[in-house]
Amino acid sequence: MATITTASGLPKSNDRRYHFDIYAVLEAPQELYFGHETQVNVNVVETVRVKTDQGVIEKCYLSPTKRRGVERRSLIWAPANADGVLLGDKLGCGIPHTCARPTCPICAVYGGLITGDVEVEILGGKEKRTQNTTVGRLVHGGGVAIQDIEPSEKQRAMHPSALHKEASQTPMPFKREYNEPALLYPVYNHCLSVTEAEFTAVAYAFLDALARLGASNPKGVHIYEGAILKPKEPLLVLDRYLAPLGKRPIISPAEVLIEQALSGFAADALSVRGKRVDAEIVSERVGDNVLFERWIGDAALLQLQEYATKFAVKHLA
Ligand SMILES: [Zn+2]
Repeated sequence: MATITTASGLPKSNDRRYHFDIYAVLEAPQELYFGHETQVNVNVVETVRVKTDQGVIEKCYLSPTKRRGVERRSLIWAPANADGVLLGDKLGCGIPHTCARPTCPICAVYGGLITGDVEVEILGGKEKRTQNTTVGRLVHGGGVAIQDIEPSEKQRAMHPSALHKEASQTPMPFKREYNEPALLYPVYNHCLSVTEAEFTAVAYAFLDALARLGASNPKGVHIYEGAILKPKEPLLVLDRYLAPLGKRPIISPAEVLIEQALSGFAADALSVRGKRVDAEIVSERVGDNVLFERWIGDAALLQLQEYATKFAVKHLA
């Protein structure tokens, strides 16, 4: 009789696995450019069309796939050693070649794929790697701007350097679309059955990628501050759980009113088991174990920073 393997393939861990979710509202403090997925070199930003009661509107979009790419790069390019080695170089893990090892702090959560046997150069040495797949356990969502403002087209010019000028060199004008400043983007990261140690990479990448989101220049977003428990704190929620007991603070892409969107986010953030909570850390236990834990606002930021610190101490210091 044939034996069928039903195992997930994940290596055993002595540490408990949990689901983790990050919910946040990001703000771009300047215009942002994100190339449209299917259109290369045409300087058009990615937008989505949303049907609302007022008809179909076009909204700017900070797409989850692009956020994922920036986060992964922030791990690959993290400064790993004092002698100038980056984490990806040290692990032999980059883009497009991912090492796909479940022990790699990047591939363990972001996933990896080696389609055929290869030889990889790592820090001057060579390593043989066989065909391998590690399925990512982190997924990204959201990204549709709240405000109903279409991208604006700007004239830009590439100026030749004044330090070395030749007669034939004149500024090269080009037009590019931008997402307007102050757009708010609700975004979400979800982790499936990861250990706290594995999640530290996700926390590090989420926080580190904020300053680097966007293609070309300018870049960067921050976590928008608004009222949850305090009148002004990061619109951020972090969940760690076995059972999903909290309301998920997700803003409908059809919502165009800022106040309504943000108060809805805050109300959901404070809703656990259908009741309003009044603490910035909510913890439900079953025996000695965590059943559901939620960090809200400032407490969520602090907790993500603590996880990011653990990642840096283990992999970068
Ligand atoms: Zn890897």
